[in-house]
Amino acid sequence: MTSGAFLDVQQVTKRFGGFQALSAVSLSIRQGERFGLIGPNGSGKTTLINCISGTLRADGGRIVFAGQDVTTLPAHRRTRLGIARSFQIPKPFVSMTVLDNLLIPLEYSGHERTDGAVEHAMSILTLVGLAPKARVRSGALTQIEMRKLELARAMAAGPKLLVSDEAMAGLSASEVDDILAILFELNQRGITIIMIEHIMRAVMRFSERIAVLDAGEKIAEGQPDAILADPRVERAYLGE
Ligand code: ADP
Ligand code: MG
Repeated sequence: MTSGAFLDVQQVTKRFGGFQALSAVSLSIRQGERFGLIGPNGSGKTTLINCISGTLRADGGRIVFAGQDVTTLPAHRRTRLGIARSFQIPKPFVSMTVLDNLLIPLEYSGHERTDGAVEHAMSILTLVGLAPKARVRSGALTQIEMRKLELARAMAAGPKLLVSDEAMAGLSASEVDDILAILFELNQRGITIIMIEHIMRAVMRFSERIAVLDAGEKIAEGQPDAILADPRVERAYLGE
């Protein structure tokens, strides 16, 4: 290993046809850190997360997680190593119950559908405040409940790193606080968290450090106060 980082993203590039979505982006994240990733729409945040989780494969660069080079591993192998992400657009199985939506990823990660698995799924639902809805069809959930289910599904495999991709978009201020409290709680339990978020108040409160992407390049990185005061960051958002 070249550094003590828990997640080491080294010079990652990604192209879609002729379009350069990521240009040599590097990030170094400590175990247990709360890290914010921000940037205007289309700046490459989700693409970077896709390259980290294995949903996409980076064209160049290296991604090292917990000492292991995962750059070319398929997504399910990265899940087993402890990388989990929520999707910007939740995709639960709407005709299934909330509980069944958790039992499926659990089965994928090698658990049998036993009483133990149900108990484990219920403990995750309790953590995100969805236990009372366990037997409800997912299609009947409200927007915030859907976001909580998305986080719960990401938690099912017992991740060490959780990437939350715009889990707060479209929520009211008190709902944002609700999701923030869940993410703080997960971090308290030792999970390293990368938060992608447009709601500045939330990222600033949550993150110990923040990186800013603009047009596929990392243009700034630092503590929240420094990021807020950085003229490059302001320019990137003004140009949106
Ligand atoms: P962000 O999450 O920061 O809003 P994305 O990572 O989703 O940005 O997208 C970055 C850029 O890459 C955008 O211009 C987007 O249109 C483009 N892009 C993302 N995914 C694909 C894809 N699968 N094929 C082609 N272009 C894509
Ligand atoms: Mg995105």
